[in-house]
Amino acid sequence: MTVREMVIASAETELGGRASGTRIRFAALKDDYLREHPEKGEAEAVLNYAERCLDYRAMNKRPPAGLTELAGEKYAYLFKADDGELETICAENRVKAASVDGEIERATGTGKYYCKICRDSGYVGASGGEQKRCSCFRDILAEKMEEVSGLPYTGPGAAEISFDLYSDRADPQKYGADESPRKNAIAAYRKGKGFASPDDPHRLLFITGKVGVGKTRLASAIGSEAIRNSMLVCYSGVSALLDSLQNRFFNSDEEQAAYRTRREFIETADMLIVDDLGVENYTDRRFESLISLLDARSGDGRKTVVTSNLGLADIADIYGERLASRFIDRDNTINIRLLGDDLRFVGK
Ligand SMILES: [Zn+2]
Repeated sequence: MTVREMVIASAETELGGRASGTRIRFAALKDDYLREHPEKGEAEAVLNYAERCLDYRAMNKRPPAGLTELAGEKYAYLFKADDGELETICAENRVKAASVDGEIERATGTGKYYCKICRDSGYVGASGGEQKRCSCFRDILAEKMEEVSGLPYTGPGAAEISFDLYSDRADPQKYGADESPRKNAIAAYRKGKGFASPDDPHRLLFITGKVGVGKTRLASAIGSEAIRNSMLVCYSGVSALLDSLQNRFFNSDEEQAAYRTRREFIETADMLIVDDLGVENYTDRRFESLISLLDARSGDGRKTVVTSNLGLADIADIYGERLASRFIDRDNTINIRLLGDDLRFVGK
């Protein structure tokens, strides 16, 4: 099973469990309510039998014996009434019974459905027409995607950045740019959010900047934004990533299966975030696997974010032009250079 399949399956399970939990709670509340308001329960019973009588007549069928038995003497008159009478009975009792669910909801705050939009089906849209996933399902899916992503920042606000941490003072000498770090960070964030849209044509995002300027925080926020856009995201530090790409010996089938699942996730996630390129030296062979991965992902239309405290010139020097050229290609790559002070020491 792939990570994507696991995420969808666990979201489906949660949707089902949540919906049935809500139904059970509501049914119990309704029992209590009807005990206190027997006339409403009576109206519901009459309505139920009258409607079913009409249904069978519309189909030119006799009501089954089971139904008339269930109705008993008390409701036998409904089975003898003519269509017009039944219509009147339905209309009257519909009014009497209609408010029950609403009153329970008002009194207890618990509705019949967890999600009123899709009535817990998880889908919206006309039946027979185009069915779309309801926002409630997309929210559950996003939670599950966040769980498997490995993103360092998760939960509410994970897609936001505190720009206040960045200095609003421009200092070309110190930061090597005319704009203030804050203005730069806001622009970088906007670019990153754009990249996280499924419609954006770029496949690579390269974030550079000195140690501590918030590259990982920004990359994580971009990942959270991508998840909000229903994209499956995989975050990994560069050395763990290279480990995952290396073929190796397995001690058990389970180990091999876990390796394959991980590798498949890295290769096919809608967005892969490779954090901190440049923290260690690689052998050429390990490094080749990274270039192949970037190329394969781009070719398949998947997005990759790479962060590094190295600039493009350093990348070319250390890892060669082949990798640097991937980050220079303007049609495919967005470049972000974060400015500023080491945020780990801001305010200390
Ligand atoms: Zn829904």
